[in-house]
Amino acid sequence: MKKVGIMGGTFDPIHNGHLIAAQDVMGQLGLDEIIFMPAGTPPLKSAEKTAAARHRHVMCILATWDNPKFSVSTLEIDREGTSYTVDTISQLKAQRPHDELFFIVGADVTGTFHKWRKFDEILRMCKVVATTRPGSDIGKNLAEKYGQAVVALSISDIDISSTRIRTLLASGHSARYLLPQAVHNYIRKEGLYIGPLARIKPTLQANLSAERFAHSLAVLDEAESLGRHYHQDEAAMEKLRLAALLHDCAKNLCEERPFTEINALCEKHGVALDSFFEKSPGLAHGFIGAVLAEVKYGINDADVQSAIACHTFGKPKMTTIDKIIYIADFIEATRPVDEARSHARKLAYEELDAAMIFILQNTIERSAANGKPIYEDSRLTLKYLEDNYGKN
Ligand code: ATP
Ligand code: MG
Repeated sequence: MKKVGIMGGTFDPIHNGHLIAAQDVMGQLGLDEIIFMPAGTPPLKSAEKTAAARHRHVMCILATWDNPKFSVSTLEIDREGTSYTVDTISQLKAQRPHDELFFIVGADVTGTFHKWRKFDEILRMCKVVATTRPGSDIGKNLAEKYGQAVVALSISDIDISSTRIRTLLASGHSARYLLPQAVHNYIRKEGLYIGPLARIKPTLQANLSAERFAHSLAVLDEAESLGRHYHQDEAAMEKLRLAALLHDCAKNLCEERPFTEINALCEKHGVALDSFFEKSPGLAHGFIGAVLAEVKYGINDADVQSAIACHTFGKPKMTTIDKIIYIADFIEATRPVDEARSHARKLAYEELDAAMIFILQNTIERSAANGKPIYEDSRLTLKYLEDNYGKN
């Protein structure tokens, strides 16, 4: 008879905290082996936000292959539907009728025992090992409640979680040393857990001039600052960041390629360009940027695309996100400071519509003074804002 530990988890991704805990439990209970069991569809976590099962499986293998006492099972991944521990244990029990099974759970899971399906049945088939932080009295409480069926084990407190690793990676930071090097390399190679901002930046940098890229980063800073000033929630902040970063993504393309080519690209994606832009294709970069954001940068988000499309001329009925991007583009910190910009900046942090009206007036006047063509949308936006000013 073998003593077999089962370490269930999402392992999204597996990390050194899991491995150290497994090793610790194995030593304390004298287990012969530990099976890591990545969940297929975890019952208590949302599926669409979890990395594909095949990735989580490969990462478990990469993390454990050099330890002959560690193995990885695909029992839960292979099973259709939601993963329930009770089904897993009964399948394992059938495969290994003579072994003694220990199902290992972490401190964060002990509080949700009662949510597990058929928990009493699980306790008849195996021992549940509840690992606790040193000094915690969860063990005592569990012993009182479940007797010998639940073993409380104090293990070293390793402050690593998959959530922490995903957050680090999504914001462009390194998670090195929190997980095995081979898993870290796999994550990098497959581009897992990287947020859209970190994913987009290198491509954008390669496609914009150095000045334009620096300007885009400055708009990102300004848009974040305005977003926080106007109490935007985290979802809106993320849209602001993406729109700011991508607002000029088509600028170089529009200046370098012939109008016919740009027009064909727009037509292909259902966007009709006004004939106004034949003579000044550079001015169409907002509309084309909204198309490129989707086809080149994979951002399919109507709010983000709207803000990119209208950042040059505005449009009637702009959203807060639209307005912040339009204004941030004008006032960002790397623009040369003059009287108009200082005033626009002051207005921007007092009232978005007042800043919009001022910037539109200023832009129209400057274009007229320089003999540049003025696209009708700017005038329409200005009129709409003036007519509705103070009504909301
Ligand atoms: P998430 O942050 O997504 O919740 P996680 O790091 O907790 O991920 P899971 O895959 O949810 O990882 O956990 C698998 C098992 O490992 C759970 O029982 C969990 O409590 C335990 N565990 C996770 N991190 C540690 C750690 N640092 N030390 C000990 N046990 C851990
Ligand atoms: Mg967890």
